[in-house]
Amino acid sequence: MKLVLVVEDEVPISRVLTAYLRQAGFRVETACDGEKALDRFEALQPDLVLLDVMLPEKDGWDVLKEIRRRSSCPVILLTALGEMHQRVSGLNGGADDYITKPFAPEEVVARVRAVLRRPRPMVQEGESVQFGSLRIDLDGHRVYVRGEPVTLTPRDFSLLSFFARHPNRTFSRDQLLDRVWGWDYEGSDRAVDLAVKRLRKALKDWPKAEGEIITLRGVGYQFRVYEN
Ligand code: CA
Repeated sequence: MKLVLVVEDEVPISRVLTAYLRQAGFRVETACDGEKALDRFEALQPDLVLLDVMLPEKDGWDVLKEIRRRSSCPVILLTALGEMHQRVSGLNGGADDYITKPFAPEEVVARVRAVLRRPRPMVQEGESVQFGSLRIDLDGHRVYVRGEPVTLTPRDFSLLSFFARHPNRTFSRDQLLDRVWGWDYEGSDRAVDLAVKRLRKALKDWPKAEGEIITLRGVGYQFRVYEN
């Protein structure tokens, strides 16, 4: 049975969602504020998160960013009308779907099913992933090129593992700062350029025919991998 984490501070809504989802065959756990949501997310490793935006402690946007830094777990946002418009451009698709309040619980169940049916990214938490002769052990935080260990700082490792989870997708410096460095990072986007430079150097023995980090001028970076 798939596990859904319902994050909602309004108890009646949380209860209704829980009842409908259980009826539909899901396991359900709940959290009533943003801090608890992240704790429960870590502890439970749910298959999907239903996330209210207006929450005490940490709001849904911050919770979403934190979840995205660690996982590709699908997230459906529950928003009041208008909340989405303010933030949608900055968010750039961090959520898999969103539902505007007020909603029919049947609709929520249908959306949960639809999102869970979508193919997931190839990389799951705790695995190691291989692109030709580059192997990234996501759990053990180790990187190997042609079997030789590569030393990276924790931040550079985070950037590489983020890239590895999203191959062949382009990210702006701001998006990378947001999703790897974190929403409260105060430094400049030069940090991204420097980290990419260090990564390229560290991965210099990884053949370009297998993959590379490419610069898209005026846009950002892409971790491009080629089928072999
Ligand atoms: Ca709320």
